[in-house]
Amino acid sequence: MSTQSRSFPTAEATRRRAFYGSFAVAFVGAAEWEVESRASGTEYRVMLRDGRFECDCPSYNYDVIHGPRDHCKHSRCVAAVVNDEVCPHCTMPRCRPSCPNRSDS
Ligand SMILES: [Zn+2]
Ligand SMILES: [Zn+2]
Repeated sequence: MSTQSRSFPTAEATRRRAFYGSFAVAFVGAAEWEVESRASGTEYRVMLRDGRFECDCPSYNYDVIHGPRDHCKHSRCVAAVVNDEVCPHCTMPRCRPSCPNRSDS
């Protein structure tokens, strides 16, 4: 009975492992997450600092710190999980038409 689908409240999302598309997000401690690409197995750390999700990947350094973007794939991932934008059924921020949880608009 513990396998039934549950809602995915924000506080819970920070404690458990979640998936966001092809990434696995794990909460590892005080405002810190580990994001793993399920395709390549690469892992990066994302930390919440001053309301921003900062990542230690090369892209964050290149595109965000020294570039015009405000997030990398990993920090976007964590933000979506924490903000409860990810559907627990299909693990995508926007449900696919095939998602059983998709509601009519
Ligand atoms: Zn990153
Ligand atoms: Zn969905």
